[in-house]
Amino acid sequence: MNKNIMTLLLAGAMLSSLSAAETENRIPARGLALDKPGSDFRIVDFTRDALGPKDILIEIDYSGICHSDIHSALNEHAAPGSKPLFPIIPGHEMAGHVVRMGSEVKKFAVGDLAGVGCFVDSCGECRECKRGLEQFCLVRDPVPNLLKDGRNFRGGYSNRIVVPERNAIKIPAGAELSRVAPLLCAGITVWSPIHFSKVKKGDTVGVAGFGGLGHMAVKYLADLGAKVTVFDITEEKRDDALRMGAERYVNMKQPEAAGGLADSFDFIISTIPSDYRLTDYAKLLKYGAGELAVVGLPPTASVKILELLAVPHRKIYTSVVGGIGEHQECMDYSVAHGIYPEVKIIPATPEALKEAYQNVIDGKVKFRYVIDMKTLK
Ligand code: NDP
Ligand code: ZN
Repeated sequence: MNKNIMTLLLAGAMLSSLSAAETENRIPARGLALDKPGSDFRIVDFTRDALGPKDILIEIDYSGICHSDIHSALNEHAAPGSKPLFPIIPGHEMAGHVVRMGSEVKKFAVGDLAGVGCFVDSCGECRECKRGLEQFCLVRDPVPNLLKDGRNFRGGYSNRIVVPERNAIKIPAGAELSRVAPLLCAGITVWSPIHFSKVKKGDTVGVAGFGGLGHMAVKYLADLGAKVTVFDITEEKRDDALRMGAERYVNMKQPEAAGGLADSFDFIISTIPSDYRLTDYAKLLKYGAGELAVVGLPPTASVKILELLAVPHRKIYTSVVGGIGEHQECMDYSVAHGIYPEVKIIPATPEALKEAYQNVIDGKVKFRYVIDMKTLK
């Protein structure tokens, strides 16, 4: 995978001071930055790239808080010994509207709703781009406004962003804009493997980790007519899972909870963000047919191959967000079918973000925080 995609997904965005030459024609912006791992947020002024002929300038109305932002804020995914990419502006779930555009832009008009997800550039020509997997672009650095030295790297907790129109997602008019932002990561990240595995009506499926990503998976899977079991570690979300269409809720803190479920699932998606045993889910898959999609990114989890050998001939794969075409399909389908995340809107203040981060870590959010970027002062 292109390392910079993971950098954006995992490390948010990096700030720096700019020289006078670099600021020429650039677009002033404001955001919420972290100076170092675990620090409090502060409001910063910076600039975005000047608008190119194929670029659009989006005024960001809403920005979702993904658990990946928290992994980034705590520098949990950094390679041992690497220099932290701080300060950062996290955020890769952006929903807003187009306020300016370059002369060659075709897909958007000023005033259109537009979304930006985990990556903002791709060449459109390489093997992976042609496959519709722009998130793995072999040529371009898909980070926002990357300067040559890689300094100027900034995410969605900000008031505006410049992106090539190719990498922006059209948000249908009439969409509930405050609930659309999490579709750009939480939504697409589960949508993509659900469709890669061709889940269909009547399939027995599982969702491990019932948070921002997990609750979107339950909604999509229930909508398809699959029989959904949710696996989490709290009693507090049992009723929510059943309300969203799950048939069964398993509290994995009770060791006997998953008893009797071995060898019975066609598909499971794991969104778990902390250490767990992959084998606990692999063994639930049907022999020879069941598929386990791993999308959660626990910083410290390791795969125990010997354990997995005890449950052979199950298919396990990883998945990272989705390509641009898939993003658009996911967006259009979600809005047309009224499948939205359950969100709590918070103001764009350092205090509100600090509290929100702690609540995500403590498992107290149902189910996604969304920052109202219009309140950024
Ligand atoms: P959330 O914190 O919103 O949700 C995680 C859920 O998992 C919570 O409900 C949590 O429970 C639950 N959980 C924690 N530990 C366990 C466990 N051992 N067994 C079962 N459930 C558990 O996170 P997100 O949904 O935002 O993100 C999930 C993960 O996906 C993160 O690691 C994130 O980085 C990753 N991610 C990956 C992407 C990709 O492209 N592959 C894209 C986006 C995110 P509780 O609330 O009770 O603590
Ligand atoms: Zn994310």
